[in-house]
Order: sequence, then structure tokens, then C-alpha cells
Amino acid sequence: MKNSLLLIAVLLFITPQMVYSENPDLKERLRDHVSVLASDSLQGRGLGTAGAERARNYIVSMFEESGLKAFDDLGGDFFQPFRFRQNLAWIDAWNITGYIEGSDPLLKDEFIILGAHYDHLGYENRDDEQTIYPGADDNASGVAAIIELARYFSDNPQLLGRSIIIVTFDAEESGLIGSKHFVENSPVALSDIKLMFSFDMVGMYEANNGLELRGMGSMINGVEIAEAGAARHPLNLRRTGNNIERRTDTAPFGDNGIPAVHVFTGTKSPYHKPEDQYHLLDYEGMEKINEYMADLVSSFSLQNEILPSSTLAKSDAPALSSAGRSGVPAGLIINAGSGFHRYDDEFFRANSSFVSSIGFYLQIPIGSYFTLQQELLYDFNGSQMEEGIFRRHSVTLPLNIQLGTPRSLSIPVRFYTFAGPWFRYNFAGTHAGNTLDFELYNEQEWGYSLGFALEISMFTMGYTQRRALTGLYKDSQLNVFDSNGYFTLGYRF
Ligand SMILES: [Zn+2]
Repeated sequence: MKNSLLLIAVLLFITPQMVYSENPDLKERLRDHVSVLASDSLQGRGLGTAGAERARNYIVSMFEESGLKAFDDLGGDFFQPFRFRQNLAWIDAWNITGYIEGSDPLLKDEFIILGAHYDHLGYENRDDEQTIYPGADDNASGVAAIIELARYFSDNPQLLGRSIIIVTFDAEESGLIGSKHFVENSPVALSDIKLMFSFDMVGMYEANNGLELRGMGSMINGVEIAEAGAARHPLNLRRTGNNIERRTDTAPFGDNGIPAVHVFTGTKSPYHKPEDQYHLLDYEGMEKINEYMADLVSSFSLQNEILPSSTLAKSDAPALSSAGRSGVPAGLIINAGSGFHRYDDEFFRANSSFVSSIGFYLQIPIGSYFTLQQELLYDFNGSQMEEGIFRRHSVTLPLNIQLGTPRSLSIPVRFYTFAGPWFRYNFAGTHAGNTLDFELYNEQEWGYSLGFALEISMFTMGYTQRRALTGLYKDSQLNVFDSNGYFTLGYRF
């Protein structure tokens, strides 16, 4: 802390006109922020821990020092508190956010967001030993970067046309929950947010041989402007790209049609390991990145227009589809398993035979837990009876209600159980080699399905049990019911 007092003293002598690259203390200040945020006393900034609270106190003091303004709508104290459910517990969490007003009388009502998550994995107690995950690269580095950008633009507001919002997100490691909350409860209209940068892991420049700006192509001319900027700096821009990164806080912004860029040095990093420590970071690289990003943010803030590119409209706006994520909520479904006929009269018994069905499904999400699924199946069912094999060709229409883990935009995994009725129309079949006579057999049947499944991205696998409640025979004395158990595979278009 002694260091930062010294830095404040030094800062008093820096004039606002001084350009970033001539600022000799930037590297040391970045190092100071990371050394505090990734220190053992913050214990890995785990969700809801005292270490995370210390991190918040530090960030707020830096925001205050840099002259950031707090939003009146959020209570005027930089905090945006929220609660969310994790397993069975309610967790309290806090985003920390403020803004710097732009200097252009028209553009200042529009915003560019500079975000970085400050939470990390915390610590583990095992065999009387505490292992801390300091999270220096992930993501003390990103927080340090935006604290310094806040300071820079507070001192040089004439470099901003649009206003900028600085936000450090909580609960990123739990599934981008802080950034989702911010988007859903934004202190400014979403339509006024023109661009978002998520600084997530920017401390390993040299090891990764440059900087990545993933998602730069989500706005028109984004890649060109980034490359032109890189030419003005001693910086290797290793990669850009059109798609918005879904593993960092860019995702909820992209889902709302806002161009969003992951500022990232790369995966050659000890992230998510106890070795992600303060002394391993490349502070010279961080300084380069900050100087370049300051220039880039200034360029974007002064541009007449920032427009999403057609790639964003096409590939990164799943909020537009009713499934709440990419692709249409319909797909192919295949069931394969075994079927047999259940006799109420236990005197008879049939053995099982191979059954299968194939067709289409359509999903209608109802809130975040429930989904209605309608299927249309060509159904090949039957049983191994004493007289020989019994086979039918049918059309089956199951309608199921699924109860599952909440659907999430960032984690494309869902487990659910389901139940519901089905209707079946039998149109052909054989029994021991003879054509079925539908004078004897029911053409129409109905019953119920039960099952469970795991959905990962576009794929589903699970188990389905389908039982008939109407008999096989028209003769009501013969109580024989169809029953099938399937292994189910699905693929969403
Ligand atoms: Zn991260």
C-alpha cells in the first residue's frame, strides 16, 4: 500500500496532456494492482468470501481515486448488488461499475463498456493444507488494465467522444452470472451500448507472442480499425475474428446484438492453477496492451457510428431464437431399444425384441426450467411372441413436458426428466409372417412416456420408456399392452 501512496504523489505531477506512452509509471501501477488482487490475503477472490470483499474494497478505492462517476440509478456507490441461486444456496454478489462522460455533445449519450471479471476460484482446504488459486492472469490482470484505463480517460476526457462504462463483474467463473445480471439490469439503455470489451487474461503477452481481440469482426470495420491501431504501436495483434467469445463476459452482450470483443493474451497461461501467481505476469506486455487499448477505445469513441456486422446478426444473436440459444429449437431424434407385450393375465408372457423409431422434435421453452417437446416419429415396434415375431409400423406423436436444470446461454448443458402422453396410429404389421388384420388389432393407441436426458450443445442422449394404456386387441377381454424402452439420441439443427 505504501507503493500506491507514492504513486498518488507521482500522479499529481502528471499533466492531463501527457500521452500514455510517456507515462513511466504505468507498468508499476499495473504490477501494484495485480500484486494486491492476487495476494494470498485475498485468498483467490472466491465467490462470497472475505477475500472477494477485500478485492471489492480495493477496486472501489481505485475507482474513487481515478475520478470515476457512480450511477445514481444504482445508488451512487459503484456497487450493483445481486443474488443468484447456486445449487440450493442463495449467493450474494456484486458488480462494481462507474462511468466517464464523453466530450462530444451528441455521442456522449452512447456508451462503450470496458469490463473485467474480478472473481476467481478462491481456495481449497485439503489435508489441513490450504491451496490458494491466486488468479493473477485470470483475472487480476484484466481488472488492473481497466482500472488504469479508467484513470487515463478520467485524466483525458477530451479523448473520449462517447462515454465509457467501467465495470468489474462478479460470478464470472460461475457461468458469466455478473455480466448477465448487468445486461439484464443495465444502468443505461442497451440500445445505447455500442461496443463492449472484456479484458479477461491479459498478463501473458510474451508467452503467447501477442494479443488476441476475438470478436473484432462483430462490428463493421472493426478488424481494420484494430489493425490500423496495432500499426501505430509496438504491438503484435496475433488474432482477431468474427465470432463473439462465449467463455467470457462478452457473451451476454453479443446475445443482445452488441458487438463485443475478448481482449486476451492466450491460453499459454497457468490459469485455473495455484501457479497463476503475480510474479509470473508479463507487465511490460500489459503496459503495451493498455497503451494500445487506450488508443483503440479512443478511436471507437470518436467514430461517427459503431454498427454490428452481419456476422453478429447471424451467428451471435441467439436471443432472437425461441430456444434462447443458437439454432432453431428443432431437431432429429432416434430411439433404439427393446419392446415387448405386457399381459395383464400373467399366464402369458412375451419376450422382448428390437424396436426403434426415428423422427423430428420441436421444443417450446416455458421459463428457464420447463420445456414442452412435441415429437413426430415413424415407429417400428413389436414383441417376440410364442407364435413368432410380432411387428408393427406406426406413426407416434409423443408430447412431453421436460423439467430440467435452467437453460443458460453460456453453458450449453442441460439435464432434464420428462413425462407426457403419446398417441399412435398403427398402419401395417405382421405376426409370425402373416399380415396383421386390423379387424382384430387396434389402429389407434395411446399411453405415456417417462424418461430423462442430458443435452450438451446440439446433442441429446437419454432413456425413454413408452407404455401403452390401450390394448393391442380390439377384443377387450384380451388385455395385452405394448411397452418399449429406448436409448434416445437427438441432434438439434
Ligand atoms: Zn477469466
